[in-house]
Amino acid sequence: MLSFRGSRHGELITITGPNLSGKTTEIERLLNSAHGIIWDPAKGESSNIVVAKHPRDDISNPGKIAGYPALETDDPDLIAKQVTKDTEAVVISGINFFEDPKIVDLLHALVLSNRKVYVAGHNLDWEGKPFNFMPQIMSISNNFILKDAPCMVQGCRLGATRSQKLSSSGERRCLIHHSFRGRPDVHIDRLGGLELFVGNMYASKTTAWYEKMKELDAKGIRYVVFKWSNDKRFSERGKEYRVFDKGVIGMNNHKASIPAILVRDMADVIRYIRGETGIDGLDSMNRKSPVGHIFIDEGQFIEGIYAGVRDMIYQGYRFYVTGLMRTFKIEPFGEMADLLTIADNISVMYAYCEACGQKATESQRLIVRNGQKSPAPYLDKDIAIGSKEADEDVTEVYEARCMDCMEIPGKPKGDYSFKPYVPLSNSRFALKVSKGN
Ligand SMILES: [Zn+2]
Ligand SMILES: [Zn+2]
Repeated sequence: MLSFRGSRHGELITITGPNLSGKTTEIERLLNSAHGIIWDPAKGESSNIVVAKHPRDDISNPGKIAGYPALETDDPDLIAKQVTKDTEAVVISGINFFEDPKIVDLLHALVLSNRKVYVAGHNLDWEGKPFNFMPQIMSISNNFILKDAPCMVQGCRLGATRSQKLSSSGERRCLIHHSFRGRPDVHIDRLGGLELFVGNMYASKTTAWYEKMKELDAKGIRYVVFKWSNDKRFSERGKEYRVFDKGVIGMNNHKASIPAILVRDMADVIRYIRGETGIDGLDSMNRKSPVGHIFIDEGQFIEGIYAGVRDMIYQGYRFYVTGLMRTFKIEPFGEMADLLTIADNISVMYAYCEACGQKATESQRLIVRNGQKSPAPYLDKDIAIGSKEADEDVTEVYEARCMDCMEIPGKPKGDYSFKPYVPLSNSRFALKVSKGN
């Protein structure tokens, strides 16, 4: 059970999953928990919760989410118009159907103004591809509720993560029973998947990821670990690494480090797994019994990771990927946004803000010039790891920061801006989201 009572900051929680997985029920439970406390439209009271739905969502119940009246619109502007100084939370169902990119800006502006935002919708379409702006929406989310329930094919009890198009409707299916034109060949005796370990810098993502390796070790399950070859932060000083060399991944809070195979991109990962590297050792073993569990560090740097993982999970591979969801610009990082939509488990880790001590969700980049720190401008590149300019002593460092303490000079203003919501000290409002079954 998640509860957000007393949290100072705005938050975006995305509730997602396939057809008939209980997303609307989750929203209904959320509204039930607020109902009776402050929200009673029957009495004509103005509500401090804005409730909206897209017209294509749950068309059998127009103008409502479960029993609650909802503003039915596909226009983000109309939702924005409902937001007053008293609006404490915004709930939107069918978020995947919005085709106007302003929906992403709207959600971000609401969070920046200290409001709680809950959205529900399909992460994926019938072909298992990201639905409209779901990657962007998920990449700016603070947390996720991934709904799952057993596959609806008779006799199958595997977890359903995909929506199967039927002649007049849809149902939830596991990867093995999900069919569409052009689907990769399915490995029928093992279920693939993707587990993500995300958060900002210094959020101990690697530590949680390492625990997963220990779990597999304890069960005697073989796995292989990959690391981006251009990231030299934990490499030995002065040593040049080449693709498929062994590198190490350091951990902030451990003395241990994790050995990893160095790769340039996802094509290298696939070549290695398929034993096409031309090097001996593990490869010749892999050809006979392929390693089904694959760990990839810093997924935001791995080009091609989304398409590679998307196809290989149908073939029974299980991926465990760490990564930053957002750049220092608070924008989607690499292909992490698309990966979020196909994950069946997302662990979100936080650090603490180095400026104010609150929960930190962001990574502040600072330029250090002759010992003086200043925030990196918006126009700087997304990736800058230990780069050094020739003429001056200039380096970049990062700090964990909360959204309020982020400084991004030159960042363009979005389409919306709301006056910050100031919670009453004796607020009667208490929204709770239950984690489902
Ligand atoms: Zn199934
Ligand atoms: Zn802060």
